[in-house]
Amino acid sequence: MSTVITVLRCPECGAAVRESVNINGFRAANTTIGPPTMLCPACGCELITGLSEWADKSPVERAWFFVRLALWSAVSGLVVAGGGGAILAFVLIGCGVIDEGQYEACSLVFLCLGSSLLAGMLVRNARCEIRQSLARSRGDLVTHHRYQPGRRRPSVG
Ligand SMILES: [Zn+2]
Repeated sequence: MSTVITVLRCPECGAAVRESVNINGFRAANTTIGPPTMLCPACGCELITGLSEWADKSPVERAWFFVRLALWSAVSGLVVAGGGGAILAFVLIGCGVIDEGQYEACSLVFLCLGSSLLAGMLVRNARCEIRQSLARSRGDLVTHHRYQPGRRRPSVG
């Protein structure tokens, strides 16, 4: 697994503005939803973030957002809930709550519970992000970014 952390730096003053974590070229926990431009908190110059608001995303980008969400739920479910469940089942054997014959069934139950919990959390976060993004696009929230008319995505077809 290769993990690359990209730091967005202000070209004017060099301040680190934002980080994104890529695991095997796959943008992991970080979202792709956000204002396309932002102001540097240190010097106030305008920066291009590489993000876009939900309302400005193409159908392909929206589909990719959900694919990424599903993949990330599956991976984190297996690693976190699977690993945690196996350890928890092992602890329960140690405490005499279950016997060794129940180990696999027990860790499977924890895996299912844990991964649905994780997936639920991820989906809720994603919905929240989309809602916030749509609110920003409608101008409900006060933000410091401005749209650059010249940078809109090219129309398809
Ligand atoms: Zn700056």
